[in-house]
Amino acid sequence: MPKRVPITVAHGDGIGPEIMAATLHILKEAGAELDIEAIDIGEKVYLAGSSSGIEPSSWESLRRTKVFLKAPITTPQGGGYKSLNVTVRKTLGLYANVRPCVSYHPFVETKHPQMNVVIVRENEEDLYAGIEHRQTDQVVQCLKLISRPGSEKIVRYAFEYARRNNRKKVTCFTKDNIMKLTDGLFHTVFTEIAAEYPDLENEHWIVDIGAAKLADTPEAFDVLVMPNLYGDVLSDVAAQIAGSVGLAGSANIGEHVAMFEAIHGSAPRRAGQNLANPSGLLLGAVMMLVHVGETGVAERVHNAWLRTIEDGIHTYDVYKEGVSREKVGTKEFAGAVVQRVGLTPQTLKAAKYKPVEGEASERRQAPAARVRAKKDLVGVDVFLDWSAASANDLGSSLSGLNGNGLKLEMMSNRGVKVWPGGHPETFCSDHWRCRFLSENKAGPVSHPQIVSLLERVAGAGYDFIKTENLYTFDGERGYSLDQGA
Ligand code: NAD
Repeated sequence: MPKRVPITVAHGDGIGPEIMAATLHILKEAGAELDIEAIDIGEKVYLAGSSSGIEPSSWESLRRTKVFLKAPITTPQGGGYKSLNVTVRKTLGLYANVRPCVSYHPFVETKHPQMNVVIVRENEEDLYAGIEHRQTDQVVQCLKLISRPGSEKIVRYAFEYARRNNRKKVTCFTKDNIMKLTDGLFHTVFTEIAAEYPDLENEHWIVDIGAAKLADTPEAFDVLVMPNLYGDVLSDVAAQIAGSVGLAGSANIGEHVAMFEAIHGSAPRRAGQNLANPSGLLLGAVMMLVHVGETGVAERVHNAWLRTIEDGIHTYDVYKEGVSREKVGTKEFAGAVVQRVGLTPQTLKAAKYKPVEGEASERRQAPAARVRAKKDLVGVDVFLDWSAASANDLGSSLSGLNGNGLKLEMMSNRGVKVWPGGHPETFCSDHWRCRFLSENKAGPVSHPQIVSLLERVAGAGYDFIKTENLYTFDGERGYSLDQGA
């Protein structure tokens, strides 16, 4: 008898238990060899006093099975409850969020009959590091962090995914015309890794026009890879324009653990009425079967589901008079899929999954070994909380603090240069960035020189709210210039 694969299952809230029961029923009838450990997550756990919505013992199950099939949960409003999804993703290092967005024309209505894209979203970094500060009365900040190893992992995942799934092209979206260092690094890594995959086409779009093109002509894209925030927004857009967010599944892949789910929420108003569409969770479960190596069962389930959709057997959210044949509830939909196990679709393209060696090997791929760049400290940006009439006054006053190898080079307010030579029209908040560079560009400066500058700044009565050291790497500037600089 084949070995059963242990998985952790959470039945979730709202429609969660119904769609999970339907999904597990289909998997079982299609012959999935699974050993299920059930855990509690979500509303019940939140309301029992856990701010993260998951019990400590559940982590042990996840560490043991390394595979998590998760129904949607309800996050209670207010009360400081943290998003369980973000907690699970970050705690377990689930760096890749994979969302296939496929249209099922002519069986499910869509404006984009040819659409078949997969969004691979970086899942841990970018603005989602959650490092935010209120710095002055008027200004708050959120740090955008992009790392080279993080970018390498996700971009390589996208190319490996494309190769394994017979895709032809990988497209990268960034905004590196504005964020030259952060999005610039992501784009650079994309270009480097793309060169290792000559069998696949690659291209890069600036995210704004790329998003417009995706919404208008999604058939122009195949696999898309992008930093966290763009991926978060655009994967919902893509799922919706493919037909319905109710039809999309999602995989969150890490080096140790992977989580599979529907992209929609717990739809509490539909709960307990045998109405909900289990398709999103079922397609998440199909990705899970591929991940654990049960590709034959994945194919059987996916093809039976495609045939059910083709046969016009639809839940209320997809049902359309004249297109659909029969409106069914959750259980009846699951029964219809089970009846079609062994059948393939007649019009839609049948699913075909390759055995899975690639999946594990690319997850193990170590980041490329690199020689560390020579890093020199050449100055410091000192951020001040300061309210006063003119940038020129502040500029002259701070210039009086020059010395000991550091000199005020320029000041900006919200990224726009305001000294020297600012424009009177520029709006200034109470948040000033004051750049001190090595005097006469005389080479590196030391930490004690910076500390002594800060003592002079504080001694002159200024509230410095933050400093950011300025470095060069192999002589190349590691900080941005300003608009107007
Ligand atoms: P939702 O996705 O639950 O519902 C949005 C709309 O889509 C509703 O009209 C709903 O009836 C419909 N819908 C969603 N899934 C459906 C399905 N399978 N079948 C039929 N109709 C379906 O979004 P929401 O109402 O904004 O959120 C409800 C709760 O879900 C909130 O507590 C939210 O925090 C949570 N949520 C959880 C997850 C998750 O666990 N991954 C994701 C998103 C939202």
